[in-house]
Amino acid sequence: MSITKGLPASFSPESFDAIVVGAGYAGAVCARRLAEACGSKVALIERRDHIAGNAYDRIDDAGVLVHQYGPHIYHTTNDRVHEYLSRFTEWTDYQHKVLANVHGTYMPVPFNHASLRLAFGEERGERLYQKLVAAFGKDKKVPIMELRDRNDPELTEVADYVYENVFLHYTMKQWGKTPDQIDPSITGRVPVYVGDDDRYFPSAPHQGMPAEGYTRLFERLLDHDLINVYLGVDVRDILEVRGYMVRVCDRPYGGEVIYTGQLDELFGLDLGALPYRTLDMEFETLPQDRFQPVATVNYTTSEDFTRITEFKLMTGQDLPGVTTIMREYSKAYEPESGQTPYYAILEEESRALYRSYRERVDGILNFHCVGRLAEYRYYDMDGVVASALDLSDEIISHSR
Ligand code: FAD
Ligand code: UDP
Repeated sequence: MSITKGLPASFSPESFDAIVVGAGYAGAVCARRLAEACGSKVALIERRDHIAGNAYDRIDDAGVLVHQYGPHIYHTTNDRVHEYLSRFTEWTDYQHKVLANVHGTYMPVPFNHASLRLAFGEERGERLYQKLVAAFGKDKKVPIMELRDRNDPELTEVADYVYENVFLHYTMKQWGKTPDQIDPSITGRVPVYVGDDDRYFPSAPHQGMPAEGYTRLFERLLDHDLINVYLGVDVRDILEVRGYMVRVCDRPYGGEVIYTGQLDELFGLDLGALPYRTLDMEFETLPQDRFQPVATVNYTTSEDFTRITEFKLMTGQDLPGVTTIMREYSKAYEPESGQTPYYAILEEESRALYRSYRERVDGILNFHCVGRLAEYRYYDMDGVVASALDLSDEIISHSR
């Protein structure tokens, strides 16, 4: 791998078999697979000054390993994804646990057996738990919107409690809307758990943190002689889509183009901007060993921020006397403002707008969209890797 800051004057698209836009999971996995399986020479173009996309981590001034763009916990049920990424890293056995601060009391989230007893008292909590077990079965996940549909006064009481104390205010902060107003799949990511497992991802057989961090994982992933990385380059300065033709440096380009950025930006937002939420992340370093009981505490009834992450508790870094925490404040994303589009706002209208942009590129045989931005999806890391593996399978099979 070579890494160059900026694009040299001698850059010639024709000397590359593929141009990959974006050095996050989507771009890096495709770059590696095309280099390895097809012997393709790849130019990987990234507008930030680092690789790893939103998974980028770095050591801060106090020596703490922090996640620059929000806390990232690896978890997957997908064996192929796990096998692929495990070529480039070992994993710690970190199991993510989250507590909600509910009016000053810490309760496990997903809301579970222990949370019920904390919320309703030992005896009543236990009785309500047995009722949930009878209604849904043990070790079952029940989305809050489904629990709210039950016609039983006691289950309704549980649903109302969880809705009000876990979901309503947090969702208002995160999305500016109530849980009823957003796609149910979003709150469905954190279903009530009828059981004792207090992990955030109870069903993921593979979870942990990359032993030397995410950026190191990406350094290894991109460590291939045929991959040339260009940092600090906005591809829109050199690439445009005109009709069914991709042009790079003002000439038609016939190699493969893998695009992992926003599709609306590529077309100058001419059909309108795809809506997103962005985050202000407030980092604070404190002169103490530890700040909070678990790596992530969600503030579900108070505060303007949604959650506080304490990185050392997640990465397992042993660094006495100092810790770095981060608060997340969510707000509407303003297009072309330099903000990061962290979360797509998935609604009928925005999906339709995305489809209109997508139709413009779907007929271009050498132009491929993949990843959380380019597919306008709420992907976790493993979902992006799975999608990049699928796309690269397809390109590899056509090249043979
Ligand atoms: P990105 O990582 O966004 O990479 C796209 C890259 O393309 C960026 O580096 C961008 O700079 C570059 N780019 C865009 N446009 C251009 C252009 N015009 N020219 C050049 N380069 C360009 N997933 C989990 O599995 N577990 C978690 O705990 C988790 N936590 C998260 C927390 C937060 C706050 C957020 C926002 C996401 C989280 N995710 C988590 C999701 C995870 O970040 C994504 O699934 C994954 O990083 C997306 O990879 P990607 O390659 O699709 O996109
Ligand atoms: N959510 C909530 N309270 C919580 C945790 C999650 O209301 O304590 C809702 C909220 O709408 C959030 C969604 O569930 O946006 C998904 O949560 P998740 O933790 O998966 O979000 P992410 O880590 O992707 O920000």
